Amino acid sequence: MTTITVFKGDGIGPEITDAVLTILDAAHSDMTYEIFNVGAAEYEKNGALIPEEAFTSFEKNKVLLKSPITTPIGKGFRSLNVTLRNKYDLYANIRPAKANAAVSTPFPNVDIVTFRENTEDLYVGIEKQIDENTVHAIKIITRKASERIIRDAFEYALSHDRHKVTCVHKANILKLSDGMFLSIFKKIAALYPQIESDDKIVDNVCMQLVMHPDSFDVMVMPNLYGDIVSDLTSGLIGGLGLLPSSNLGTGYAMFEAVHGSAPDIAGKHIANPTALLWSSCMLLEYIGKNNIASRIRRAVDEVLSEKRYITPDLGGNASTEQYRDAVISHL
Ligand code: NAD
Repeated sequence: MTTITVFKGDGIGPEITDAVLTILDAAHSDMTYEIFNVGAAEYEKNGALIPEEAFTSFEKNKVLLKSPITTPIGKGFRSLNVTLRNKYDLYANIRPAKANAAVSTPFPNVDIVTFRENTEDLYVGIEKQIDENTVHAIKIITRKASERIIRDAFEYALSHDRHKVTCVHKANILKLSDGMFLSIFKKIAALYPQIESDDKIVDNVCMQLVMHPDSFDVMVMPNLYGDIVSDLTSGLIGGLGLLPSSNLGTGYAMFEAVHGSAPDIAGKHIANPTALLWSSCMLLEYIGKNNIASRIRRAVDEVLSEKRYITPDLGGNASTEQYRDAVISHL
């Protein structure tokens, strides 16, 4: 029996978390959960977005399934995601974007995995007001952070039968920072002769993703490009409701949907839990329960393909619970 930490979040967080945990239990995933309410409601009640016991649980269990959290506006909060990534050095943000039969898009064959460096680049948030008309923002790229994310991308390609890794950069302009990222990429690529590798400038990548998405497989890039380019890939597959992600470090792993807390539909029981469910499949694979992850993925594919019990965001009229039960009946 594996114990994991679960953050229930707010908005649609509690609804989709309940649906996902019910499916995990029905699939005999053999896990127990330490569940914490986190987010805006928790802040109003106890004065902390994430209670101390929730951090302690994650530090003990090392694996976290996190549902979306509303970031309160105007109270000086830093994004909780940025906080969690930095506190636990969750340096690899992995976002697989795979087209699905239930969502018609002009790009039915998209199957792209973005490896986004998660800890540095412009996201270190070091800005300096030089004078009233000038602000400097610092971009930080280090050899250590670049090496580990690039190596992870190649190891992933190797273990997931992927054939190519593309380095995305702007080394033609940022010759020292992105230049170092690219030269490290070339060195590491040489250690993986069985995996094809190439590099492309980020603006060209944006055009090529829309013109020829089939030509991409695994992509690896610094933080800011990863943030933007992975949203582009989510657009290619029809939107946010289907995008899972993992945030991996050396000691800790956090799995979450890419979407937010969707306050506009919270409590209506129409939220699509698929992105969080697929995130939980990535979690199952991370802890070595690949068979259970495959069973759940297959059940989801069948339910989505049948289009009988799909949620309104995908053009259906099933409730979160009807969709949940349909997945369970296909396990
Ligand atoms: P959002 O992703 O919550 O919602 C955007 C649109 O997509 C909404 O119309 C929403 O109804 C829809 N949507 C999102 N997920 C859905 C789902 N699973 N099923 C059906 N429809 C879905 O983005 P937003 O409205 O910009 O953000 C709302 C809050 O979430 C903000 O406070 C933001 O800071 C926070 N947020 C949190 C995370 C996170 O915790 N990982 C990520 C992004 C945004």
